[in-house]
Amino acid sequence: MKNFNIGILGATGAVGQKFIRLLENHPWFNIKALGASKRSSGKKYKKAVHWIEPTKLPSSVADIEISMCEPEYFQGLDFVFSGLDSSVARDIERNFAEAGIPVISNAKNYRMDESVPLLVPEINPDHIGLIKSQSFTEDGAGWIVTNPNCVCVPLSMSLRPIYDAFGIESVILTSMQAVSGAGYPGESSLDMIGNVVPFIGGEEDKIQTEPRKILGSYDEQAQNISMADFTVQATATRVPTIEGHMLSVTAKLENPPANENELYEAMQQWKNPIADLDLPSSPSETIHVYKESRFPQPRLHADRDGGMQLGIGRLRKDTVYDVSYLALAHNTIRGAAGGAILNAELLAKKGYLA
Ligand code: NAP
Repeated sequence: MKNFNIGILGATGAVGQKFIRLLENHPWFNIKALGASKRSSGKKYKKAVHWIEPTKLPSSVADIEISMCEPEYFQGLDFVFSGLDSSVARDIERNFAEAGIPVISNAKNYRMDESVPLLVPEINPDHIGLIKSQSFTEDGAGWIVTNPNCVCVPLSMSLRPIYDAFGIESVILTSMQAVSGAGYPGESSLDMIGNVVPFIGGEEDKIQTEPRKILGSYDEQAQNISMADFTVQATATRVPTIEGHMLSVTAKLENPPANENELYEAMQQWKNPIADLDLPSSPSETIHVYKESRFPQPRLHADRDGGMQLGIGRLRKDTVYDVSYLALAHNTIRGAAGGAILNAELLAKKGYLA
């Protein structure tokens, strides 16, 4: 694989820092430029950032001067990752795509756009074909690919085997979302310590919509996605954990399994369709099903397999609907920066970044 020179937009934020940490020794991607707001631009990264990662700030980026998020400062790069605040991501990401610089984004702004893949590489890798329908540049050089909301990643990953085996009519879930999901500094400590906040603004709409696109089917001829035909009812809560979003999920199925064994088999026998690509950030085990009823737990298991593994626990036949389980994924790795890096690896392997 060739080496790619890349930039990070929103490099000073919680997700931006996770990109920097995860890319420190990446075999394909080299960080050459960093962008943030006017507040940070013109400063060396080490002076502008309030570093919240547990590892040392990599020396390879410490002295990079932060730029404004304008394409002229990112010319010649192969692509950029975006961890931009959604209040500014729409215009900035479009400017980059129109300047012929591909954008691999975490922000919500283009996720539901008809021509933009909402990608989880193991779940809907074929959706990258949508890139061909984008018209940011005449020659197709500039495009945008997004990754889903940090709850929608574990939700869609966990629903995939169930959807394929039994069909889904409807899903009800409550999320228990870690404080890092709100960025830095996030919620106040007085709101979070010893407490649960029973509402996260703007979150439930995304959870109720994005999984239907992710599990939707891609029609290459028509260049569109038919949304999966199930409904989702979500309650999003913020809990005092640091990393790792936990979901309590219940689903009504089209063809329910006869017993719990069939459920386990469907989950455990599901095959990752991109396993043979050997992408550097792929977890060795994409979905781990815990049999111990006390697992998974955010503090013990969110970091499994580099923070890229989905943990499933308490898998059982439901007494009212058909199936219930808990799902856990690391929100700023699998649900944000790590997921975007895996997206880029898939796109590189498939020749979209050549
Ligand atoms: P954050 O900590 O608030 O960081 C936001 C970043 O955007 C900072 O680098 C900030 O730069 C930059 N920015 C703000 N205004 C700007 C402007 N006018 N021009 C250029 N840059 C600007 O947020 P975060 O948690 O990292 O989230 C980043 C994005 O990822 C959001 O869209 C979020 O919804 C999404 N996301 C987050 C998570 C998560 O778990 N945290 C998960 C999935 C997706 P300055 O430091 O210079 O202000």
